[in-house]
Amino acid sequence: MFGTYPGAGFPGHLQPGTGWVEVICGSMFSGKTEELIRRIRRAAIARQKVQVFKPRIDDRYDAQAVVSHSDLRVEGIPVDTAQDILEGVLPDTAVVGIDEVQFFDLQLIEVVNILADRGIRVVCAGLDQDYQGRPFEPMPQLLAIAEVITKALAVCMVCGAPANRSQRLSASESRVIIGAHDTYEARCRRCHHAAPVSAPEQQSLPIATESVPRPTVPEQLPMNFRE
Ligand SMILES: [Zn+2]
Repeated sequence: MFGTYPGAGFPGHLQPGTGWVEVICGSMFSGKTEELIRRIRRAAIARQKVQVFKPRIDDRYDAQAVVSHSDLRVEGIPVDTAQDILEGVLPDTAVVGIDEVQFFDLQLIEVVNILADRGIRVVCAGLDQDYQGRPFEPMPQLLAIAEVITKALAVCMVCGAPANRSQRLSASESRVIIGAHDTYEARCRRCHHAAPVSAPEQQSLPIATESVPRPTVPEQLPMNFRE
């Protein structure tokens, strides 16, 4: 899927010894973490020293490892702030992975630039939009400083079209909720609603679903089609 991107993996115009920034962005269930893990593993196979950092807040699957929805995993280092990443990178590290960047603040931009300036290949993955479809900091700023960008698409859970938005299924209005299959689903632009939509089994709950009618397109995908 990503092999067709001219800049995917190890771009030919970027030379070893020169640092750079790769960003993998997209919605929930678009395979961002899977692609991050694939690139990190390939670097490790080439005997490059790799380190992967993840926000401590994200412990959905494992407190230590970085795990994709499809259960691919690499060893990860949980950190609280972007500064912790800077302090945690070892002198001989060639490749730094950072997952779920939306849980870091804008200091991450400075940290990523410092690492790339040192000659490190930095691979970042995270959401580019929040549950209302708004740009999700610090991703816009990361995209601006990146040498290589991969925008991953999921499959809309309602109509099957390519999807780049994360539909929240709970009524919370908090920008950050840690969750996966029971909290979010991937939706295309047409099927996405900025306000939270109740999951089918929750429709009897007193949530304001009247003002956000569900799409009339029939559900075509079986539940197990999710990543
Ligand atoms: Zn759709």
